Amino acid sequence: MQCPKCPKSPLVATRVQAIEVDRCQTCGGIWFDNHELIPLLHERRADLAALRGRSDARGVNQKHGQCPRDSADLIRVSSALGRSVILDTCPECQGIWLDGGEFDTLLKDVAR
Ligand SMILES: [Zn+2]
Ligand SMILES: [Zn+2]
Repeated sequence: MQCPKCPKSPLVATRVQAIEVDRCQTCGGIWFDNHELIPLLHERRADLAALRGRSDARGVNQKHGQCPRDSADLIRVSSALGRSVILDTCPECQGIWLDGGEFDTLLKDVAR
């Protein structure tokens, strides 16, 4: 699969416990298939190290992307979990794209 925000950057499968998500090495963004995000937010913090970290890529947050699975236009919505995060969601498959660093922000919001 291709990163929705970076041209020519493939997503790399990253496993956390039983869940496999896809992460972009360039921008640090992460693709979650439907129902993968919520359980992951409740995994032990130590197991989530591979998904954390902010990226240096600038401007990706404002960019409109396409779903890496079905190429539908992603819709930008504020997360019900933490209002500070605007995530990109696919109207076709309900997958969720988090830009680099947004997973960290969600973790903080959930811990509150
Ligand atoms: Zn990327
Ligand atoms: Zn999709």
